[in-house]
This record gives sequence, C-alpha cells and structure tokens, in this order.
Amino acid sequence: MTTKKRRVKIPPATEAEVMFKSNLQCCICQQKGDHIHHLDSDPSNNNIDNLALLCFKHHDEATITGSLSKKLSRQTILNYREHHYKVIEFSRQRQLGTFDKPVETMTEEKFLIIAKNATIIVEIEKIKEQYFAENWDKRSGILGLLNKFTNHSNHRLALDIFEFLSLIAGQTRGGMTYNLGSSVFETVLEFFPSFYDEEKRPQAIELAKKCIHLGDNIAYDSFIHLNNIAIAMWGLTTIKFIYRSAKEYSLTELIEEVNRTYNELESTLQRPERKDLGDAQEIVKIFRADLDEWSLSFPILKPHLMKRLEIDNKK
Ligand SMILES: [Zn+2]
Repeated sequence: MTTKKRRVKIPPATEAEVMFKSNLQCCICQQKGDHIHHLDSDPSNNNIDNLALLCFKHHDEATITGSLSKKLSRQTILNYREHHYKVIEFSRQRQLGTFDKPVETMTEEKFLIIAKNATIIVEIEKIKEQYFAENWDKRSGILGLLNKFTNHSNHRLALDIFEFLSLIAGQTRGGMTYNLGSSVFETVLEFFPSFYDEEKRPQAIELAKKCIHLGDNIAYDSFIHLNNIAIAMWGLTTIKFIYRSAKEYSLTELIEEVNRTYNELESTLQRPERKDLGDAQEIVKIFRADLDEWSLSFPILKPHLMKRLEIDNKK
C-alpha cells in the first residue's frame, strides 16, 4: 500500500491571505498569479509558509519532472517569495503615508494659523447658537460679537461667517429687522477679503457670489414678504459693495452676476397680482442706476419714497 498523502483543499481564508500578501502576483515574475503552489512535497500541508502564488509558467517550472530543464527549487521560490512580500508590504505602507511623510510643509506659523482658525470657528459656532436662541430684536447685537475677530480675518473664516450670514438672510421673511439688515451689511464689509491676492482670488470670487446671493435674498424677501423697502436697501447696498470691489479689479464674472441678479429682481417685482410693489420697483431702479457711484451710502430718494422709508423704518 502506498502512503502518498492526498491533496487537501486550501481553506478559503488561507487562500485569500496568500493572494493578498502576493498582491495577486506571481512571486517570481510579478505577472498575474494563477496557481497556489505547495513548496514541500506534502500537498496536504496548507500552512501559509508552505504556499506561494505562481503564474502558470513558473508553476510548470516548479513542478517539472524528468526533464533537462532546470527545475525551480523550493529554496529559490522561498527567496523570491520573501522578497516579493517585503516589496508589497513596503509599497502599501508608503501609500498609507507611514514612511517618508513630508514634514517640511507644516511650519510652526502654518500650524498656529490652523489652530487659531479652529478656535475662532468654535467661537463662531457659539455665537450662531446664541443668535438662533434669541428674538429678532436681540439678534443684531449678537451678530456684532463677530467683530472681535476682524483682525484675524482670512478666507477660511470669511467663508464660515458668510455661510452664517446666508442662513440669516435666508430667514429674512421670518422677521428681519432694520438693525439686523444693517449688521449683516457691516459684517460683510468687515470680513470680505480683498481681491488683491491673485492666488486667493478664485476663493474671493466664490465668497463674493455668496454675498451677492445673500444681499439678493434680503432684498427679495423684504420687498415681497415683509413689504419693507427700508430693510431691502441693506440687501441692495451689500450687492453694491461687491459690485464696486469687482469693478476695481475688472472681474466681469461678478459684474455679470450682479446684473443677472438685478434682472431677476426686476422681473420678479413685475407681478400683475401685486399692486403694492410700485415703490419696490422704483427703489430697485434707483439702486441699479447708482451701482457705479463710489459711495456706499443710500442714494437720494424722491419725497414719496422718503416718506415710505420713514414708515417702514418703524415697522
Ligand atoms: Zn511567474
């Protein structure tokens, strides 16, 4: 009776481990691996150390019998396998950034800016919470708390603050007050970064679009929902501020955005069912014509609009 041991199927988990350690490659030539080879002559020994993934060609060479061709010995395969596993492991560690992480880009100065931004962002979050917990008449004062960060302003913080202002503007119809409208405008003025830095100009343009949009939101909701031309004027002045800065740097993209916004605003105020939007239409026309004037103070209004303004101011 022969005592030749029989092949035992390799357990799936072991097979998966071999495939992974070899990166699905033949450990001799790194071509696609086709066959898991048993290194010693015992085919039932499925210990992972006894297995190596090979392509068909190298598997043939490892199992060749009775030929003059040189057989791929067990020790040769072991040497190749050890090297192959190390290379795979090393390249994976590298991909994960475990080795050779560039540290020279993280200067102390940069780290301080990041830490400071993070601290201020947490403070802004607190102010947001406070803001939304209060009544409309107290909100203007809470928004003013942001001013203590003016000296630390940068694009990152401006983004956070303008997103907050967008939320505020989005709720205009809920009961925006004249003072709050003024505070929103002043906050934009305080935190809007210059277009001067060319490297950061694309970011500044994004922020500018946000400001045009929030100004439009305040104006639109004040006219249509609050029927208050006084608050709307803060929205229109915010848009003018962006227009003025964009013009200084000939940023046509933003100038066009402002024109588009005005076109929409004008057409949306032409509602046949609303007979009460005449003053709003006039105000929009006056502010649009005033865009190229340098001053950010409200343009001069005709007496009937001044009268209306007095009434809306007290609402
Ligand atoms: Zn091979």
